[in-house]
Amino acid sequence: MAQRLDGKALAQKIQAQLATDISQRDPNLRPPGLAVVMVGDNPASAAYVRNKERACDRIGITSFGSHLPADTAQETVAELIDQLNNDERVDGILIQLPLPSHLDSVALLNRIAPDKDADGLHPENMGRLMRGEAGLRSCTPAGVMAVLKEYNIDATGQKAVVLGRSILVGKPMALMLLAANATVTMAHSRTEDLPALCRQADILVAAVGRPNMINSDWIKPGATVIDVGINRIEDETSGKARLVGDIDFASVEPIAGAITPVPGGIGPMTVTMLMHNTVLSYRKRFNG
Ligand code: NDP
Repeated sequence: MAQRLDGKALAQKIQAQLATDISQRDPNLRPPGLAVVMVGDNPASAAYVRNKERACDRIGITSFGSHLPADTAQETVAELIDQLNNDERVDGILIQLPLPSHLDSVALLNRIAPDKDADGLHPENMGRLMRGEAGLRSCTPAGVMAVLKEYNIDATGQKAVVLGRSILVGKPMALMLLAANATVTMAHSRTEDLPALCRQADILVAAVGRPNMINSDWIKPGATVIDVGINRIEDETSGKARLVGDIDFASVEPIAGAITPVPGGIGPMTVTMLMHNTVLSYRKRFNG
């Protein structure tokens, strides 16, 4: 049976450490601040924003929420970002995605000051990752790397396959594994014979968004399997909605070496790395 990689427990541990660090700051300094910008009323986004604000409260980060109506103009959101870039109380800015379709999300993400880019998605921070320089890292893949580190899973010389090539997850994930000395293959919807490719992986990261797509036939025995996918499906017996990953956990757990569950795996780590990035920006600002 695979070892379960408990992202929830690790997230709690890191958040507790961040809370201690913040409580022990120079009392003359303000606490760190995170601004969360949400446009429209997407219920999933609202739940994510609530989660992030609760995490801020627990840790001692001041959260500044801006909830704008769905029909807000591009220029208005851009002006808000400019204000937050100049707001001395704010160390991190997060735009909750997806934005309504009339907004140009790339232009808005690129407008965030790179040193306040808590999500690590600005081209400058992505470029720094590409170049192997220090910078704010994308939260989800950074969360995956933190889990590997916690469980002493060394990527050096390992064959890693990353399923998915999005800017949010797949691409930065591949770069982080490369930086950790893995031999990395990126796969996507046009890749041929995915199961055969995945069976070569010592470390498999799935970030596809297809419920239970990957079963035991795709897995090398003993591999580390990281499930980034979060998919809402209807439970066949209860009829209620529940969350599953891209990995068919029941079939893969018996043959993998280590596996992250959904929920309780990478999800809580993503929020935690957002807090971590905000505190990192804060420390840089105050040399603390
Ligand atoms: P995207 O939809 O942006 O990207 C999905 C990627 O998967 C694309 O590169 C796509 O390939 C590839 N893909 C889709 N279908 C297949 C297929 N049948 N075979 C092979 N590859 C396929 O999604 P995200 O990267 O934003 O998110 C991926 C998953 O991770 C989602 O379930 C999302 O909810 C979850 N997620 C979880 C987070 C967490 O905190 N745990 C945070 C962010 C996302 P192509 O490029 O060719 O289209």
